[in-house]
Amino acid sequence: MTAPVDLLVRAGAVATMNPEREILRDGAVAVARGRIVAVGKARELSAEFVPARVIDRPDGLLTPGLIDGHNHPHDYLLRGVLDDVGDVRERAVKYVGPFDYGITPEEAYVSARANFAEMLLNGTTCFCDAASPDTDAIAQAAVDIGIRGIVARQSSDVAGPFQAKTFGADEIVDRAVSTVERWNGAADGRIRARLALDFPLSVTDDLCTAVVGQAEALGVGIVGHFHGLPGDPRADGRNPQVQRYESLGVLSRQPVFAHIGWLPEEDVAVFARNGVGAVHCPTPAMFGGVGTIAHGCIPELVDAGVAVGLGADAACISRFLDLVRVMYLAACAHRDAREDPLVIGAHKAFEMATIDGARALSWQDEIGSLEPGKRADLVLFDTTGPEWQPNGLASPIANLVYSASGRSVHTVVVDGRVVVDAGNLTTADPAALVAETNRTTDEVFARLGFAVRPKWPVR
Ligand SMILES: [Zn+2]
Repeated sequence: MTAPVDLLVRAGAVATMNPEREILRDGAVAVARGRIVAVGKARELSAEFVPARVIDRPDGLLTPGLIDGHNHPHDYLLRGVLDDVGDVRERAVKYVGPFDYGITPEEAYVSARANFAEMLLNGTTCFCDAASPDTDAIAQAAVDIGIRGIVARQSSDVAGPFQAKTFGADEIVDRAVSTVERWNGAADGRIRARLALDFPLSVTDDLCTAVVGQAEALGVGIVGHFHGLPGDPRADGRNPQVQRYESLGVLSRQPVFAHIGWLPEEDVAVFARNGVGAVHCPTPAMFGGVGTIAHGCIPELVDAGVAVGLGADAACISRFLDLVRVMYLAACAHRDAREDPLVIGAHKAFEMATIDGARALSWQDEIGSLEPGKRADLVLFDTTGPEWQPNGLASPIANLVYSASGRSVHTVVVDGRVVVDAGNLTTADPAALVAETNRTTDEVFARLGFAVRPKWPVR
């Protein structure tokens, strides 16, 4: 008995990320109508199914698509402008704010499309936009280029360095609700939408209450940023913003917060109890000297059972959208900070970029592992490069995280569609995309008076 399927991917090793974390030697995944229909030994699946297409890489490592839980596709075009220009506040006031509200929706679309192209080429199949002013442009770019993701509309009603523009709570909620109504479930479920609370200090209690109420009515979660500092706790040892969000009901609405920083032990437990998702972003922290590695509580959140995913964050403050490199930093940076060679490590970092990231985004029923019934989001890594040797598949996850980079990505499948084929993007012309990105950036920078300034004289 043989059944037709759309695609059969055979690989030297398949990292399933199923509950047992099984890695199948000479494994395969069968895909039909956008979903995984079988995972098993290649010879058995080859006998069972008649695929319309076979991708066969005996030297390949097949994994779930990587999940970027915190990103700002809107800000891709700013890459290079924020190098060595001062602290987070200065960057926000001088550049990010004026840029966010100084570009057109068409320019935001160009920014997001280039952002997603880089993500797909590095094996990222799902993003979570941490709220942008041009949600329609971001979502449309995602639909067109074939990536999966979550969009959300910027939500701040308190003026500050991170808010170039604020609106009244009613207007914010109206816009956010229309975003959810338009995009949640779009493209056959490939796009989801959430409500947002940008930063604890940029949102009033009234806005929190309104957003929580609408999130409940619409059945969607909340995205936001959170960055606790060691000086934050009050006499009772709690972080006041965690207490505030808890009392306003924010923590019970499936929130996912990026960065987190330092939290007292009790607040780590509160996050765990409430099912709060966390997203660790080591690259902007290290690029900007934020202290997330030095004093952040990521290892404690992991130990407490909080779903901790990984995020590249904005291209302008991460500098690359390669989650394989991000995994390396997540795996290793805390070891140095804690002087502990066993903290995090490659396998936990890989969980963070796959199944734990899916849990953080409350999307684990459909993505994050290679199991029958889940959406077919796959990455095939080529392990023939020198950085994988000797014996690239001997300990494939450790080799991927400790030695490789997104450069090893061979093929990427999202929702059953091959979007990167033997290293080539199939959903956009790469040369035209680069030309459009550069032309648009030149126009935006000329209008806003921005420039990329190299540190050394260029003659
Ligand atoms: Zn962010």
